Amino acid sequence: MRPRSARGVKPYAPGEVYDLLEGFYGKPTRRARLDGVSELVWTILSQHTSDLNAERAFAALSDRYPTWEAVMNASEGDLVETIRSGGLARQKAPRIQQALRSVLDRAGGFNIGFLAGLPLGEAKAWLREIPGVGPKTAGVVLSFAMDQPAMAVDTHIHRVAKRLALIGPKVTADSAHDALEQAVAPERVLNFHVYLITHGRRVCKARRPLCHACPLAERCPEKPRRAVEGDARVPTPSLSHKPL
Ligand code: SF4
Repeated sequence: MRPRSARGVKPYAPGEVYDLLEGFYGKPTRRARLDGVSELVWTILSQHTSDLNAERAFAALSDRYPTWEAVMNASEGDLVETIRSGGLARQKAPRIQQALRSVLDRAGGFNIGFLAGLPLGEAKAWLREIPGVGPKTAGVVLSFAMDQPAMAVDTHIHRVAKRLALIGPKVTADSAHDALEQAVAPERVLNFHVYLITHGRRVCKARRPLCHACPLAERCPEKPRRAVEGDARVPTPSLSHKPL
């Protein structure tokens, strides 16, 4: 449940946060949509690296192997070399192969588009049975690849949501998915994700949030404690299109 007030100010309702961030950043343009398995692999490749590195690794993967079956059956060493530009290749290569094996075993192929026709909770549960897939990755696959109203919560979104009192101070990132997902209308969930993650990366940064330039400063319960007087840095008001 959302706190009704924190630090003496009435926090913004989720819909108000959405509108103010939309006004600040503008409506997002969608990156090219991938199919479900490609989004899953992309998400693994994009962990702990930049968009550019993930794109390079994904392109190298697509150039080197003609099918997901070929990726799954590749020698681990070859796969590590192929995706090296994405960073942490030794961890990501076996994770990708394990995920592909699990998809093949359970779906009988590499088309998981049927998940879009399941109730959201069932689709999430199906994805979360894939080794290494948590609520965040499941949310990204369902929202970005299948237009489902699933909220993916990463460390930035979790931090911003806590500071704005959209969730309680003790709500973990894993349990914030459902709370934030239900906080806005289904058709707003994906953009809400994009706005919050962008805000966490560009303005409401972990160590030195740029409260002086924040469109939510007026009723942010955290601002009095976080504002750094005299900090003249100005954020770039452009959207971040990397999902996580
Ligand atoms: S006012 Fe500061 S702490 Fe609050 S959301 Fe904005 S940047 Fe974050």
